[in-house]
Amino acid sequence: MKNLVVLGGGYGGMRILQRILPHLPEDRTVTLIDRSPYHCLKTEYYALAAGTVSDQEVRVSFPEHERLTIAYGEITEISLEERKVYLNDKEPVSYDDLVIGLGCEDKYHNVPGADVYTLSIQTIEKSRTTYQVLNNLAPGARVGIVGAGLSGVELASELNESRPDLNVVLFDRGEHILSAFSERLSKYVQSWFTKHNVEIVNKANITRVEENLLYNHDEPLPFDAIVWTAGIQPNKLVRDLDVEKDRQGRVILTPQHFLPGRDDVFVVGDCASLPHAPSAQLAEEQAEQIADILKRKWAGKPIPETLPSIKMKGTMGSLGSKHGFGLVNDTPVTGRVARLIKSGILWMYKYHNG
Ligand SMILES: Cc1cc2nc3c(=O)[nH]c(=O)nc-3n(C[C@H](O)[C@H](O)[C@H](O)COP(=O)(O)OP(=O)(O)OC[C@H]3O[C@@H](n4cnc5c(N)ncnc54)[C@H](O)[C@@H]3O)c2cc1C
Repeated sequence: MKNLVVLGGGYGGMRILQRILPHLPEDRTVTLIDRSPYHCLKTEYYALAAGTVSDQEVRVSFPEHERLTIAYGEITEISLEERKVYLNDKEPVSYDDLVIGLGCEDKYHNVPGADVYTLSIQTIEKSRTTYQVLNNLAPGARVGIVGAGLSGVELASELNESRPDLNVVLFDRGEHILSAFSERLSKYVQSWFTKHNVEIVNKANITRVEENLLYNHDEPLPFDAIVWTAGIQPNKLVRDLDVEKDRQGRVILTPQHFLPGRDDVFVVGDCASLPHAPSAQLAEEQAEQIADILKRKWAGKPIPETLPSIKMKGTMGSLGSKHGFGLVNDTPVTGRVARLIKSGILWMYKYHNG
């Protein structure tokens, strides 16, 4: 038996399993390794942290198959030389084909104290801690959120809905929030925050973080809790791999998504260097192509030299449970319709993932 090992049952890993398992050749087995016993819906961690959805609502069971083994544990090393994956407290797992889909982590841009004194929504474990801290705060407490990209904006608005008694301040480096979106969308979101008493600090430069103190341009500002949503980088295990990477530390791949010279090691999702910003949608679209390549490879069919370029359908963000914003095929959408589209996407995702 030849073994495909999938590292990480996130959006990329899950989609590969869904496409591979129904057609798994008789001589193949699959091992999924993840620290969590379920597929976690990372795109909803802002709501988990704010306290508007329960833990159970942000997870989905992994698929079942007679030749799928699920190994729960912390991966500690990937050895491409030995073709083995090392785990914290279990025997190493050998692979014939490997898919690395370990997602990303916070990036602190060398801001002293940021890794120690800020909360995070990058893993389910950290989002649970953030939930506890935020929801145990006394009325009137001050919460600083650093970074007004999609996840910072969603967290700030959801927290405002969950705890309107808190004073939420959103810090952003840019002249206007949501730098990846158009100015029109940014202004819409900014006015939503003004209406809901969430303070926005533009052109911020966080220079240091200490316990309950955030330094903006070296000026200390007191906060009862600080959440970091100001940047991401690939998983440390991937950063430690001795392979070619781009400026963000993402692995450079062939057009068929494997390591140059190693057609048995694929990288999917946030760890892969791709022509779009990392997202769950991108991880899934790339995973479709990887699943197709694996099926061709196992069937002894030729692997195409180029693949169709991945097209993104758009991005949706929420502003609490009633409003939203985003782009659908490059068309800006705001308000209740945008929120309905976002909820619909989540509903469909859960429906198709059992
Ligand atoms: C608050 C928030 C909102 C977002 N909203 C959107 C959105 O609206 N739309 C969108 O497209 N994207 C969104 N994203 C981005 C999206 O969540 C990621 O791009 C996506 O999860 C990447 O998928 P992935 O498969 O690469 O990794 P992930 O989905 O992060 O999966 C990685 C998996 O690896 C496992 N893992 C990691 N390290 C180890 C280890 N050492 N040992 C064992 N297991 C390990 C994890 O448990 C996890 O299951 C959002 C992100 C955040 C944080």
